[in-house]
Amino acid sequence: MPATSATLLPLLVTAVEHASDAVVITSAEIDPPGPQILYVNPAFCSMTGYGADELLGQTPRMLQGPQTDRAELDRIRHAMHQGQPYQGESINYRKNGQPYYLRWHMDPVRDTTGAISHWVAIQRDVTAEYAAQAERAQLLAAAQAALVARDQFLAVAAHELRTPLTSLLGYAYLMPKAGAQGPDALAALAQRLTLQVGRFKTLIEHLLDVSQLQRDQFDVQRAPLDLVSLVTRVVDEVRPTLPVDGGYLLTVQVPDAAIWVCGDAIRLEQVLVNLLSNAVKYSAAGSSVAVRLLRHDDAAVLEVQDQGIGIPPDTQARLFEPYFRAEGADAQAHGFGLGLYIVNEIVTRHGGTIEVTSVEGQGSTFRVTLPLDA
Ligand code: ADP
Repeated sequence: MPATSATLLPLLVTAVEHASDAVVITSAEIDPPGPQILYVNPAFCSMTGYGADELLGQTPRMLQGPQTDRAELDRIRHAMHQGQPYQGESINYRKNGQPYYLRWHMDPVRDTTGAISHWVAIQRDVTAEYAAQAERAQLLAAAQAALVARDQFLAVAAHELRTPLTSLLGYAYLMPKAGAQGPDALAALAQRLTLQVGRFKTLIEHLLDVSQLQRDQFDVQRAPLDLVSLVTRVVDEVRPTLPVDGGYLLTVQVPDAAIWVCGDAIRLEQVLVNLLSNAVKYSAAGSSVAVRLLRHDDAAVLEVQDQGIGIPPDTQARLFEPYFRAEGADAQAHGFGLGLYIVNEIVTRHGGTIEVTSVEGQGSTFRVTLPLDA
């Protein structure tokens, strides 16, 4: 049986009272103080946080706040002046002061003379939708930035890997000539060759480490170890690989007694080798590189000091970011800008810290502090 107006009315009231969208009915005044709220459904109360008794008799302006778009309010007023329905989005404020995004439409209700007597607005809280959109936009921007970084990286990587390969090819070409010149020439060439192969190996290792770090698969296995022996051994191993014609003076100073830390020997060796190779890379031939290990309070302190090009003060804080290279680094030596990033990750995974002090044109000191083994 079709519903009559009389039977329909309570049904409509029930529908509006139970609707999940917020419904607000106001009077028709447009001029200040503006329309009065005459009815709100429970969804409107839960959306705004106000009770119906706090809303009735007020104007919807009580829900506006600093982020409410004034231009949108003008559009609403304009629609009301024209007696036209309005549809749009705006920002209102809940009773607790939190802003919320609102998608809504509002229609005029006319009396028998055709004059507007009320406005009925149906509103939906779309704050979560906005937050999800913002998150998606952020993720998209991050993904796009990662793609750009990857493309830049591939270009740099190809260039960096080609450089030692070109030298290796040149050395291989010179091999018969050096052989004919005698054992000294051959030995000198062999050392240059070893140096380039070492560089090539380091580049590949850096790439592998970064890939593991980015996939959270970077392995650090810690056990008690004596840093004094590790530092002594690593310096002894690095010394013969220094450029033969460079004449670098590598000094090492370690205490007599062992310094025990809980560390991964391979990774800590990697830290020292990286700092040493940077010290040599960013110094002029013939300068000194000093390695110092000491015990300070409850910590082991490892310093690598050079007399090289130094690092501009404004870039020192960024040295440990991946792919970062200070101004002037390119002119001095090739690199990916990954070594210090990896060093910092290793040191941090040992509960330690790394810092740098540097004066441009005078040199740099990298200082690693590691907790002693309990
Ligand atoms: P790479 O040497 O491959 O560029 P690193 O991560 O090892 O990468 O170093 C990052 C940057 O820090 C270098 O490009 C260089 O600008 C600067 N740097 C590192 N060590 C030194 C040093 N001992 N002296 C001067 N600059 C250094």
